[in-house]
Amino acid sequence: MESEGGRRDDGFRFGNGRLCFTFTATLGDRGAPVPRERLAVPGDLARWCVRAGLLAEASPVGPATLAGARRLREAIDRAAEQVRTGGFPDPRDAAILNDWAARPALAPRLDEVGRLRWRQEGAQVRHVLALVARDAVDVLTGPARSRLRRCADPDCAGLFVDVSRPGNRRWCSMNTCGNRAKKAAFRQRNPRSG
Ligand SMILES: [Zn+2]
Repeated sequence: MESEGGRRDDGFRFGNGRLCFTFTATLGDRGAPVPRERLAVPGDLARWCVRAGLLAEASPVGPATLAGARRLREAIDRAAEQVRTGGFPDPRDAAILNDWAARPALAPRLDEVGRLRWRQEGAQVRHVLALVARDAVDVLTGPARSRLRRCADPDCAGLFVDVSRPGNRRWCSMNTCGNRAKKAAFRQRNPRSG
């Protein structure tokens, strides 16, 4: 379980390095019999946007926006799986991505010390979803498409882009799944260490 600064652990995963896949990770444990829905209620979606550093504060979200967000999320996951395994996205999934990608998105901003920030004036959850969709289109059509992977943790099975030089990264994030696997391997080698 992750926790940051004693904050209540909401289970969000931000360690996989790519915006659209931190979003698909809001459905966790995709390889387990029962995946873990981290966007259970509309407020979860608003909180995810804040935790992701995209919105300064949680704006109100309606159930229709949550339903649309989940549809987008699963379209990204299915489309990425198709591309990862050498196929093409289903046209229905591509249509969902394209529809969101065509909408107004958060605008990027260069801050005073050269970091990427997001313009907050009038920013809402729907602008975040448009940004996520654009990132997904970029991943699925750019150089990253040949580096799409699923996490080797059989329960997690989360998507990520392997940017390691040899191209042999196995885990969606070293802080979560990679660390867990390392500890499990250590316990196997040292059964009495607890
Ligand atoms: Zn993982």
